[in-house]
Amino acid sequence: MEKEKKFNVKEEFGTNVFNDYTMRQRLPKDVYKKLKQTIEEGKELDPDIAGVVAHEMKEWAIEKGATHYTHWFQPMTGVTAEKHDAFISPTEDGRVIMEFSGKELIKGEPDASSFPSGGLRATFEARGYTAWDCTSPAFVKKSPNGCTLCIPTAFCSYTGEALDKKTPLLRSMEAIDKQELRILRLFGNTTAKKVTTSVGPEQEYFIVDKAKYLKRKDLIYTGRTLFGGMPPKGQELDDHYFGVIKERIAGFMKELNEECWKLGISAKTQHNEVAPAQHELAPIYASNNVATDHNQLIMEMMKKVADRHGLTCLLHEKPFDGINGSGKHNNWSMVTDDGQNLLDPGKTPHENIQFLLVLTAILRAVDLHADLLRLSAASAGNDHRLGANEAPPAIISIFLGEQLEDVLDQLADKGEATRSLQGSKLESGVHTLPDFQKDATDRNRTSPFAFTGNKFEFRMLGSTASIANPNIILNTIVADVFKEFADELEKADNFDMAVHDLIKKYITQHKRIVFNGNGYSDEWVAEAERRGLPNLRTTVDAIPALVTDEAVAMFERHGVFSRVELESRAEIKYEEYAKVINIEALTMIDMAKKQIIPAVMKYEADLACGANEIKAAGVEPSVQLAQIKDIDEQLVALKDAEAVLEKVTAEAAEKEADVAAQARFYCDSVIPAMEAVRKPADTLEFLVDKEAWPFPSYGDLLFEV
Ligand code: ADP
Ligand code: MG
Repeated sequence: MEKEKKFNVKEEFGTNVFNDYTMRQRLPKDVYKKLKQTIEEGKELDPDIAGVVAHEMKEWAIEKGATHYTHWFQPMTGVTAEKHDAFISPTEDGRVIMEFSGKELIKGEPDASSFPSGGLRATFEARGYTAWDCTSPAFVKKSPNGCTLCIPTAFCSYTGEALDKKTPLLRSMEAIDKQELRILRLFGNTTAKKVTTSVGPEQEYFIVDKAKYLKRKDLIYTGRTLFGGMPPKGQELDDHYFGVIKERIAGFMKELNEECWKLGISAKTQHNEVAPAQHELAPIYASNNVATDHNQLIMEMMKKVADRHGLTCLLHEKPFDGINGSGKHNNWSMVTDDGQNLLDPGKTPHENIQFLLVLTAILRAVDLHADLLRLSAASAGNDHRLGANEAPPAIISIFLGEQLEDVLDQLADKGEATRSLQGSKLESGVHTLPDFQKDATDRNRTSPFAFTGNKFEFRMLGSTASIANPNIILNTIVADVFKEFADELEKADNFDMAVHDLIKKYITQHKRIVFNGNGYSDEWVAEAERRGLPNLRTTVDAIPALVTDEAVAMFERHGVFSRVELESRAEIKYEEYAKVINIEALTMIDMAKKQIIPAVMKYEADLACGANEIKAAGVEPSVQLAQIKDIDEQLVALKDAEAVLEKVTAEAAEKEADVAAQARFYCDSVIPAMEAVRKPADTLEFLVDKEAWPFPSYGDLLFEV
């Protein structure tokens, strides 16, 4: 037997990252210290150290096998971008040396006029700059086909507008840091220098067989199946969730973990998810910015590693109709540089006034800006999960659990809280099992925004999108309420009284956002409407939230987005939505016309020939004829629906002068036309011989991995 090469996790972890350990080893002490101050305390970067850092980074990367470097950035396409430059610099005698200057580390100019900018940059003024983000460590991407030093960067236009997701994320992190520090000072904390938001995103995904994937144009072009009837077995037995991981999948997961670990990503938890062929990976949480970069890398690695195993990773939010979709749970908290988690209630939350104030701020922020949070998770793909029948509705509410809700009730009713409910002993009824204390609060899996012990879990996010947007929104809305609170409390004569009054006032005002019940029920949709909570069902309904006067004022207050940046982002969202639906519609037309209709016609003709032969033998071909009739009915319906879809898709394409109206048309007219095509096609799948169907079925994709 071939001897397996052992992977030593402790030795290999982070080996492809120019991390703190490596920097401390390689950089001169004073340079290291200065860089650390920027990374940890948010001090301005000293440009003089860039040359030394660049040199050491280059030497380290070359030792790893790198020949190229790239400014790695996250334009508004939602994926990452890189343009590679070799380190080579020619010498006079016709040879080369390997060079990398401080200037090249700090600044790049990708001349990227082809990235979406939402009108921020006309092609004739195409300059865009990338700037080194030293708060996220550089790393090398290694493969048998080359090795490149990747430098995380922010991407801005010539006039300083953000053209990416990182720039506003970093701005929002600075905003929440600044405002939360003001609150901490009021509570007498004089030592904390920085508050960082920490994020642990749980990533869901599907794995299918690559050979089967390649037979489906819809998966290739759109990432989801546009046709397909339910197999006899779906997820109703709940036997996949946490089930034994198949060998082939385990092999994929092992390599994925190793790739992540080498990149310093602490991939921690893996398991089968609810749907067949669905899985999840969760890393240990990290600083918001690093977690965002890591999540992008995790998604990239999932695709690459799956490919090496003859598999394909589907990151779409809803690859299969009628089967659970994939999301990304964004676990979010705020931590001081001296290690205090501001969302940790302690054992007796009713006595923890600072925690209660933070909690009140979050209630207020989420209630005031529910529309923005909803928007932050909106995309054409995620529309199939949110507001659809099985997934959470697109209504934002907060789950707090019994213990905290009880404290808030006391505060709202009596003006003070005197007790915190405690978890009791877990009694299993078996003497040999250990007794332990339960948590004070149970979980609620149906809440879009749930308090889970010492963090909030924002569960609306789709599986494909970057986690940047939801965190930009979350950080900014919370920062804004902290600012409001700090402005008021700093003026107060009696701080204790003022805090108390403020908490009571806003808890009473925003209690409507708290909901501990079943968020998936119809009753909740009706109840939420009574409470006046917004229910923005589609992306197109949600986009206007980004550019309301209140939203613009708030983002500008904290320097996170300017009005033009917001307007450009809204425009990009409309465009992206329209493009996605357009590609889906065209793919559907293509598959219907070139694959399904021809296959069904051929099958029908074969049946008719068979029927004639049977007749010639003197027998009435009643089954054949009945089958032909059923098939033909659906075939006519399919042909008609396909013609309508072609017509409305062409009509939609002509509306490009007004992106909002165009997106609305795709939503209201093209999507229903697509549904009308799908229905007869899915019925036909069950009327036609499996051998005659032109591509793999749901059953083949979901159960035969
Ligand atoms: P769950 O709460 O969903 O059952 P875990 O407790 O394992 O699962 O956490 C899920 C994710 O939340 C992980 O990525 C974990 O690192 C992250 N997480 C845990 N604590 C925090 C925190 N204080 N802030 C942010 N993320 C956290
Ligand atoms: Mg979770």
